[in-house]
Amino acid sequence: MRKSTPRDVKRAAKWNKDHPERRREIINRSNRKRMDKIVQWGREHPEARNQTVRKNQRKVREKVMKVVGHACRLCGKDGREHDGRSVNGVQFHERHYKPHPQSASALWYILKHPEDFIPLCIKCHTVVEYLHDVFGVSIEEIEIWLKERKR
Ligand SMILES: [Zn+2]
Repeated sequence: MRKSTPRDVKRAAKWNKDHPERRREIINRSNRKRMDKIVQWGREHPEARNQTVRKNQRKVREKVMKVVGHACRLCGKDGREHDGRSVNGVQFHERHYKPHPQSASALWYILKHPEDFIPLCIKCHTVVEYLHDVFGVSIEEIEIWLKERKR
């Protein structure tokens, strides 16, 4: 392929400007081709794919912990002690008990609404959810109760 000259670049820019819809179509088609390739690669290499997914999730989790926090708001246990895995580490509690995405897309949702979430360890999270579901107790009430108890 020959190197493109400034004139080629200018001509291409003009074509893009004159054919916005056609340009979008071409971009979409090449994006789809790229996505298909990635999906195909995932089918052929399920283990490597899972590893990549887990690695990316760990990265997002670390980002969320930086923004929301990594120590349980109630008992102080640090979620980073456990390799960043949600099974043992910190969880993120939605303060207003609003429905929100679960599992993989939850982390991206939290990054978009960090002010709605607090870090809780698994034990405290279970208790907080239980007190809310069974007795209608909010996280604010629990926090007030803990503060008064410490005095
Ligand atoms: Zn805790």
